[in-house]
Amino acid sequence: MGSQEVSTVDWQGKHVTVAGLGVSGIPAARALHERGALVTVVNDGDDERARAQAAELEALGITVRLGDGATLPPSTELVVTAPGWQPDKPLFLAAAEAGVPVWGDVELAWRLRGTDGREPAPWLAVTGTNGKTTTVRMLASILQAAGLRTAAVGNIGVSLLDAVLGETEYDVLAVELSSYQLHWAPSLRAHSAAVLNLAPDHLDWHGSMAAYAADKGRVYEGNTVACVYNAADPATEDLVREADVEEGCRAIGFTLGAPGPSQLGVVDGILVDRAFVANRQKQAQELAEVTDVNPPAPHNIANALAAAALARAFGVEPAAVRDGLRAFRPDAHRIEHVADIGEVAYVDDSKATNTHATEASLAAYDSIVWIAGGLAKGATFDELVTGAAKRLRGVVLIGADRALIREALTRHAPEVPVVDLDRTDTGAMSEAVARAAELARPGDTVLLAPACASMDMFTNYNKRGEAFADAVRARADESA
Ligand code: ADP
Repeated sequence: MGSQEVSTVDWQGKHVTVAGLGVSGIPAARALHERGALVTVVNDGDDERARAQAAELEALGITVRLGDGATLPPSTELVVTAPGWQPDKPLFLAAAEAGVPVWGDVELAWRLRGTDGREPAPWLAVTGTNGKTTTVRMLASILQAAGLRTAAVGNIGVSLLDAVLGETEYDVLAVELSSYQLHWAPSLRAHSAAVLNLAPDHLDWHGSMAAYAADKGRVYEGNTVACVYNAADPATEDLVREADVEEGCRAIGFTLGAPGPSQLGVVDGILVDRAFVANRQKQAQELAEVTDVNPPAPHNIANALAAAALARAFGVEPAAVRDGLRAFRPDAHRIEHVADIGEVAYVDDSKATNTHATEASLAAYDSIVWIAGGLAKGATFDELVTGAAKRLRGVVLIGADRALIREALTRHAPEVPVVDLDRTDTGAMSEAVARAAELARPGDTVLLAPACASMDMFTNYNKRGEAFADAVRARADESA
């Protein structure tokens, strides 16, 4: 099927099994039912919430089977799954054995787009281990500045199915895709796509680094205009090389250095485009200043360049790139400046839940008191600590797996003072901030970038970030 063609599945009487009630399963079941499919929803859980949701669907005539997400209903012709369901689940093994295709929420949205007779909006897709949400929101901001009707959708928390089937009409969509979603999206064909970076993550789900990379690489399949890769991360360029794209689709790199032909990069504090210009051997087009990027940390400039590359691939003018970047405000808990107390800056990057994200965060400051720890999820910290050792004024460790970070510090940065907080109660973060303040000197940054998940001490990374920010603000009020 050509890349922008609309698929024409006849849903009438088709037996579809939807795996998983929930944010993607319920709208999927409804949309398919409305098109005449015979829908059965299967769900592992059988709690009160699931029963209430099931009752609503059953009232429409949809069959729901609670408490058994493993068995494939015998007449199934297609499975539509929630993206997080692990591929080795018995349901999928049974589907594979029976030759039944499995689609995720993204595949379903892709297949249903344009089937209501409206012109479907092209997708500009972003994936990568870290920086997806930021980049997609920067991209949407740029597209808006260009006067286009757009939205940031997908893994960012806005359902693609809603975007594709809803009332609002779009000229183009800025789509965040997770590796899970890509795994289950075999026929997705984006206008252009970017893989921001690749570091080990979610390997228990994918089975291996190679399988994880291959799923990320699917985002490039069938691209029509540009495959955007990170010149500093050769694995992303390898994925472009392996992808089967439309004739004439270009590989476009982004770099924090001076760009070569067909790249976007940085020259003397200016973001420049040497890809989408008339004479890329000799010319570069100024897009924006580094200080237009918020915050102008190196990894975030990389995100801005990726967003700019996708926007330029879509034909957006340079001035809109600048205006869109200026208008962009980062989401909470992502390198968020909370306060300056004395001459010390306090920064909340609670969203840095893995070592790759934390590495980027630590690279953004010269002298740091680092607050870290939580649930390590099988990570090792040697490389992270080695890379940051010179910039660490001190470290305050919190959470269940803090010993792992402490051991890496003992091995690679034995001179750096470490405070090991052996408490997980609600006052723990406040003490962590107090101890960090004792270690900090004027000009330093106290940085919460835990490199770990938060669930040992907090409901989620938002709550962890809020606890940090509350503790910092309380100190700021005291010192005012
Ligand atoms: P994602 O949606 O991929 O989780 P976010 O934009 O929400 O990414 O950022 C998550 C965290 O990853 C941030 O807190 C930041 O520390 C880090 N980060 C953001 N962009 C990058 C990047 N390009 N490279 C490495 N780390 C990054």
